[in-house]
Amino acid sequence: MSLPEVLAGIRAAEEEAGRPPGSVRLVAVTKGQDLEAVRAHVLAYADLQPGGFPLGEGRAQELRDKAALLPDAEWHYIGPLQLNKVKYMRPVSLIHALENVRQAEALARAAEKWGRAPDVLLQRHNGEAQKHGIHPDELSAVYAGVVQTGLNVRGLMVMAPEGDAAAARRVFADTAAQAHDLGLPELSMGMSGDYPDAVRAGATLVRVGRSLFL
Ligand SMILES: *Cc1c(COP(=O)(O)O)cnc(C)c1O
Repeated sequence: MSLPEVLAGIRAAEEEAGRPPGSVRLVAVTKGQDLEAVRAHVLAYADLQPGGFPLGEGRAQELRDKAALLPDAEWHYIGPLQLNKVKYMRPVSLIHALENVRQAEALARAAEKWGRAPDVLLQRHNGEAQKHGIHPDELSAVYAGVVQTGLNVRGLMVMAPEGDAAAARRVFADTAAQAHDLGLPELSMGMSGDYPDAVRAGATLVRVGRSLFL
């Protein structure tokens, strides 16, 4: 697999779902990949998506180090946000996995110093034994609390359970329905193992890593 093949898979799933081509943006997850690999497997294809490919990192120090070397890229942070690592989020335009109001407050404070704030998505808990994410019953309260901090909440993010396609489809459908109920337009869902199902369920951002680098 390579980036063009993943894109073709996204386009095919969009078409199957009756969604216009280009409804979904591919976020290239570059965690664990060195700069040479990122250049060869992602940046070389930048022309294939309007605005190029956002680069997704899941560890704060790795993000800081890579963003310093590629300052012109669009950086997304897809990992859990630790309060003492908020300072590394300065190059980031979108935080995918905000989980509580305390994180939002810390981010809003830092953003004031930076003169610009990243947009955020709220991570929804997927119902399985998973550590991260906001319980669906608490999402609307957390959403209201995060909005209070002044951050721009653009949507929801979820990680489906691995190895159970039917359960993953249910998680995608439930997350899409809740985003719709909350009036949130952006849906970050789908990884190497499940992105076609995520696209069929309405994802607007898919976070694919491994498949781009094979
Ligand atoms: C690593 C990671 C991805 C990408 O997963 P792949 O299986 O490599 O495509 C997507 N989202 C999150 C939150 C991740 O940590």
